[in-house]
Amino acid sequence: MRILDAGFDLERFFADLARSPHPALLLDYDGTLAPFHVDPARAAPYAGVPALLDRIMTGRTRLILISGRWTRDLIPLLGVSRLPEIWGSHGFERRFADGRYDIARPDTEPLRGLANADTWGDELRRMGARLEQKPASLAVHWRGLPPPQARAIEEKVREKWMSRVRATGLELHPFDGGLELRVPGRDKGYAVRTLLDESPSDVAAAFLGDDLTDEDALRAIRGRGLGVLVRPTWRETVAQVWLQPPEELLAFLERWAQVTARR
Ligand SMILES: [Mg+2]
Repeated sequence: MRILDAGFDLERFFADLARSPHPALLLDYDGTLAPFHVDPARAAPYAGVPALLDRIMTGRTRLILISGRWTRDLIPLLGVSRLPEIWGSHGFERRFADGRYDIARPDTEPLRGLANADTWGDELRRMGARLEQKPASLAVHWRGLPPPQARAIEEKVREKWMSRVRATGLELHPFDGGLELRVPGRDKGYAVRTLLDESPSDVAAAFLGDDLTDEDALRAIRGRGLGVLVRPTWRETVAQVWLQPPEELLAFLERWAQVTARR
């Protein structure tokens, strides 16, 4: 574990967390709780993670997952005994812990652009890409492909999508292993801001994430809680702490479970 922000005191954070009546643990899924898999439908959590999440949820913590995935694709993978609150599709979907479900209505024009983008999806599939449709985005994955093939797909996507981005107001977001064409208006930072704004003022919150799209959430929590980058290799980030999974992640969750257990 590395402290990236010289002014940040991790021991003080855990001491405050131990006293807080309102701990909140906000977690990304892919790359953070689960290692990447060429087939995302098989990206299971690291061993020990589901049991730790279950333990954390029996304590004082409000646990929330914030993912770019469609919630319906994420839920079967979690392996927890009851579902926490889950934000999916980069903040467009919100499934509460009690099962209530909200989905934001994306703007019509970008959504139409998204539907049209799918019409040349076959060309990308023939090149070896995998396409993932979500309520407000279309992701092209090239994880696991040889680098020259991945580069060819990326060039094709950029060539095709850049005009689309300009014409319809869609946004193009790179992520680890692909590119995503997204309807604007929501991101993981929106989810974090909404959750913190709804929380009592003495909330003690942390967000853990790995990817470029998690930087929105890390920026949103900065000054209001702890931002943690979870990644085998370092990269530029606004997070205060960097953990290497799985060992350091498991140690962090274990410590969280201990200090937030019911008294
Ligand atoms: Mg991730």
